[in-house]
Parts: sequence; C-alpha cells; structure tokens
Amino acid sequence: MSFYRKYRPQKLAEIVGQAHVRQTFANALSRGGLSHAYLFTGSRGTGKTSTARIIARALNCLNPGADGEPCNECEVCRDALLGRLVDLIEIDAASNRGIDEIRDLKEKIQFTPSRAKFKIYVIDEVHMLTKDAFNALLKTLEEPPAHAYFILATTEPHKIPETIISRTQRFDFHRLTEAEITEHLATIAQKEGIAFESAALGLIARQSAGGMRDALGMLEQLGAGGAVSVESVSQNLGLSRPQAVEDFVFALLFSKLAEALTTIDGLVAEGANLIQFNKTVLAKLREVMLQKVAENKLPEAKKTLAIIDEFTRAGEELKNAVIPQLPLEVAAISVCAAHVAIPAAPKIEPKTEVAPKVEIKKAPDQTEKKFAAVVTEVTAQKINAGTAISIPLVEAALPQVLSKIQNPTVKMVLKGAKILAANDSMIELGVGSDFLVGKLDAAARNLLAEKFAEVLGRNLQIKIVRAEIQIASAAPEISEKPQTKPRTIADAAENLFEEGW
Ligand SMILES: [Zn+2]
Repeated sequence: MSFYRKYRPQKLAEIVGQAHVRQTFANALSRGGLSHAYLFTGSRGTGKTSTARIIARALNCLNPGADGEPCNECEVCRDALLGRLVDLIEIDAASNRGIDEIRDLKEKIQFTPSRAKFKIYVIDEVHMLTKDAFNALLKTLEEPPAHAYFILATTEPHKIPETIISRTQRFDFHRLTEAEITEHLATIAQKEGIAFESAALGLIARQSAGGMRDALGMLEQLGAGGAVSVESVSQNLGLSRPQAVEDFVFALLFSKLAEALTTIDGLVAEGANLIQFNKTVLAKLREVMLQKVAENKLPEAKKTLAIIDEFTRAGEELKNAVIPQLPLEVAAISVCAAHVAIPAAPKIEPKTEVAPKVEIKKAPDQTEKKFAAVVTEVTAQKINAGTAISIPLVEAALPQVLSKIQNPTVKMVLKGAKILAANDSMIELGVGSDFLVGKLDAAARNLLAEKFAEVLGRNLQIKIVRAEIQIASAAPEISEKPQTKPRTIADAAENLFEEGW
C-alpha cells in the first residue's frame, strides 16, 4: 500500500493544512448542521477526497465523538474504511462508468439507505461529467432527499456549470505550504524508519508544488533506496548540479544567452530531468521576484515576472516537446532577447521564381487577415488546376500553415524562416543559423510537410538550410560587439540577435 493511502488522515484533526475546512466541519458535525451538497475545489493531493470520506463516516458513525469526529471503530466506520459500505457511493466522473452511475443515481437516490443513516455520494473530478450527466445531477441537487448528502470534488472548478455551483457550499482546498509538507514527511519517515536529512525533505516539499500525494510518492521512492539525503533527492530530480539552477537563473536575469544555452546543453548531456529542472528554476525565480518586491525594486520584480511567464509556458511545452530541450531554449532566447526588436514577420524577398498561373495579390501591409484571404483564393484553385508550387504560393500559404501548427517552438522557427525555393516536389526553407537548422529535426520537418500538404494539397519534401536573413531593424544597443566567428552553438545563437535573423 502506498504511503499516500497508508497515511490518509482518518479524522478531521489529522488533515494536514486546510484549517478552515477542518474547523467548519468539526462545528457543523458536532451541532448537526450540515448542508446537503458541498463542492471541494483544489489541486491534486490537497486532501479533498480524504476529507469527503471522513465526513461520510462522521455522518454515519454509530459512536461519533463530541467533537463530531468518526470513531473509525464501529462496524459502519470499519466497512466504510474497507470500501464496502454500500451507502457510501464514490463515483469517478472521469471514467465511463461514472456517467452511467450518475444516470443510475437519479433513480436509486430515492431509496432509503440500506445500512447506514445516510447515503453519501462522493463525486470525484466532477468537472468531467457530460452535459446530460450535469443535468441529471442538477435535478437531484435541486431537491435532495433528506437521507442523501453530496460531496463533489474537482481540480477544475471553472468547468462546472454555475447552476451546479450555486446549489453547493464551496470549500477551496489550498496548496499545502512547504513547512506543512516537510513536517508531515518527517513524521512519516520516522514511522517508516527512514533515515533522512531535514533539508532533503524540504527539497521534496518544494518540488511537490503543494500536493501531498506527489511529496509522499517521492519520499516512498527515495526511502526504498536507503537514506533520504539532499544528494539522493537532487539526483532523483535530475538536479545533479544544483549549481546549474543558480547559473541558469543568473544568466536569465542578466540576459546572458550563451551561458543559459550552455547550461541547458550541459543538463541534456547529463541526462537531467528537464521538467524538474524547470520547476526548480521557477521556484528560484519566484524567490528572486519576492525579494525584489520586498526591496521595492519594482522594475526588477517586473522583469523577473516576465521571465517566470516565459518559463511557466515552457513548462507546459516540455511535457510534449518534440525536441526535449527546445522549449527551454526558446524561453531562454525570448527572455535574453526581450530587449531586441524582432519584427513579428521578417520581410521576405522572393528570389526569382514567379507563379506562372495563379495570381497572388499581395497586400502592401501583409496583415494576416489579408494573407488568409489570398490563401483561401489560392487553395480554392489548387485542387482542380495543376497549379505549380512556387515561392509566392508557399508564402501565401504560410499563415494558414502556421495556424495549423500547435507546437509553439516549431511555429516560432517557421515564422522566422525564408522560403528559398519551392517546386512540385519540395520546399526549401532558410533559417538564420546552424543552431536553428539543428532545431528542425526529422520529426519537426515531417510535421511541417504534413501541414503544408493539408494547405497545398501536395506532398512536398521539406528541406531546412542555413541562410542569410536580414531583419528590417536591428537593435542599436547591441551592434557594438566585434563580429567574430562563432565558436560554439551557444555563441552562434547569441550572434543571431546581433546579426538579425
Ligand atoms: Zn464509527
């Protein structure tokens, strides 16, 4: 049995954090003043389901304490703890069965409880219900029988219809503080006979983002391998060099792009867990931001906030990244180059080829809207006529291709690309550096080919090459550095912003 299950709180008093929830329910249970429907919101591992089960037992307990707590020893409590009390109905709305169970609920709820005093419905991840299921639930919530109680739990309250929310009493479960998690981890480590360094538990707490489930999972995993030390936690989290976080954050704050990229390269070489690394970087940036606010250095706090924004987004993208480190690299580039004016759409001059048949009206300001109109015109013609693929045609199709690409990193590189050649078998795209050529690997090229095929109705090979690309305006303050040949990829990337791309 996992630590999380083994050490689930059995009484309100044992719930970690959430004092407002504990107090309210202790009062309501001891005085007998419970509502018939509650909504528990909060991120995972904050105690929503555990609390719901305690309340279910407290309501039905044969010997409840004067403080409203369940005894956990009577036969009703024991059956509930073993998961075999038929009057405690737990529904997982995320499962297919959950939908059927809601349908059943409407009929079965009218029957009186079979063993206990009350029927308690605990509906987990309630935001996953379908519209029909919500309607069925709403009917029930409008007139619940006196013998029924509802506890709805969700991590995403904004997805629940207002009509449902207004029928419930809502409790927001807060993320647990690092201190609360650390203390609880220490208690459990002691019970389990796991040797630990206090700082190591603090490190786990920081990584678990306020959720006890992840924190206990990490303790369990590390504890199985022996003592839990700062070193073992760092290694497990992919932070073989905690110094890497310091270096990286420093580089971001002072716009040292080459250093930031070198750090990322090093992490990749070491096989570090980039998702964990990013989390630690965010925690560090948050510290910096709060520090700057405390010192009343608001411009610096604002800059740090902008960096946090970039890396929060990178964190999302890391989960599905085609190239594992690309989101971090893109975020680093965005942050370090934030003061460089990069035009949204680089001016692209077609080489020599001209579309033979299709006439493309180029709007002078080339807004995306006008582009889209041109593309519609073009794509309308592409299927019937054997229209030759040409640079202007591909250019005109580009915004539509861009709109089809979900991967923000591929999108960004493509936005800066120049169409060097286009014919019926291939499209050659030029990007500003070898660094970017390397970023568009086979998977990214296949993605591009697929999207171009959708727009142009033709399967074309995508080639990526290095090309000289001029931008309209160069940033004045960075043009002073001597032009030297880049020594490393990181140097090359930094040069991008000096040369423009
Ligand atoms: Zn009991």
